[in-house]
Amino acid sequence: MRHWRRFFVAGFSALLLAACATSDTAPPASGESITVLISLDGFRPDYLDRGITPALSDLAANGVRASMRPSFPSVTFPNHYTLVTGLHPGRHGLVNNRMVDDQRPGAVFTLQDRNVAADAIWWADGVPIWVTAERQGVRTGTMFWPGSEYELHGQRPSRYRVFDQGLAGFARVDVLLSWLDLPEAERPRFFTLYFDLVDTAGHRFGPDALETNASIAETDAAIARLVAGLDARGYAGRVNFVIAADHGMAPQAADAIIELDPRITPQQARVIWDGPFAGIQPLAGQEASVEQALVGRSEHGECWRKAELPTRFDYSAHRRIPGVICLADLGWRYRSTQLQQYATPALGNHGWDPQTPDMAAVFIASGPAFRRGATLPTFENVSVYPLLARLIGIQPEANQGNLSDVQPALTQ
Ligand SMILES: [Zn+2]
Repeated sequence: MRHWRRFFVAGFSALLLAACATSDTAPPASGESITVLISLDGFRPDYLDRGITPALSDLAANGVRASMRPSFPSVTFPNHYTLVTGLHPGRHGLVNNRMVDDQRPGAVFTLQDRNVAADAIWWADGVPIWVTAERQGVRTGTMFWPGSEYELHGQRPSRYRVFDQGLAGFARVDVLLSWLDLPEAERPRFFTLYFDLVDTAGHRFGPDALETNASIAETDAAIARLVAGLDARGYAGRVNFVIAADHGMAPQAADAIIELDPRITPQQARVIWDGPFAGIQPLAGQEASVEQALVGRSEHGECWRKAELPTRFDYSAHRRIPGVICLADLGWRYRSTQLQQYATPALGNHGWDPQTPDMAAVFIASGPAFRRGATLPTFENVSVYPLLARLIGIQPEANQGNLSDVQPALTQ
């Protein structure tokens, strides 16, 4: 009797152990897929045609590719938030990588200052998709994405990491893969992954440099590692990849500079940012003189009153947009001593008109939800958001995207 009981208990424990092991490591039931959103910062669509991206080209060949139009301004934080909210920067409020806000006097939002960026006010006018997913019961894991390391709308991703530019691409991939080894009850179904290497090299050496090609190849190797790691975990054929860039990259000549100093003084206006597009806030009572000095077409650029920007930029609504916006011609940039940007000039840059071909962003979608070998016409990056919501199976927030832009890419 005793003997039997011991046998029974032992057998039951073994069964239980086997069941646990199964639920700990096995992929979701057949048919259930995961979605991985990958950002390749500064990756132009034509980089795929350089013959140095076997992993990305393979995903594109087995899926869908497109040349995607970024939102204005064609820079990193605004477009990353657009991809996960479906809103233009003029609506979601991440109006540039550097910002000020009347509601936070003295504070300057920059990429480097986490103390300022952690204030949820900067992110409050858009609801990122990981917040919506978590609210609707879908666990998310963000291996870097602007905003994902902060508590926004009272919510955080189930898994996230604080941005660390020093963490190599392979290590980023390995963190994401480790989240797939979590027990099923904790395992995310939607992931983000971010690579900045191609943008960094593009700035430093220019889009056509050998060094930039090396960074493209290195990023591709990280994608290959991700695909292999997913396959090894039994996820082959169950992963929908959405791979997108935030913007492209264009050559920038060292002397193609439009000086703002001769046109406006610090007594007239504060230059909030300069570069391929400039944001200038007239001081109280100086609006007319600043507009007189700047607004209109000049030799290598054009300035507008905030309310009069071309409507396709959708960049007039938000309070953080300065009173005058200037946009330089491709390759040119504005410069003001107010911002003391006299560092070594970069050989590549972005921030120019999103319609410029060099500003275009790569788009690849691959997986069971997508057709094979299709190329989509150019579409606006706000439409990535409703696509993600469809793939994850959640109800999207109100947004400016059109699922119909990417519908032809889907199998159903
Ligand atoms: Zn950049």
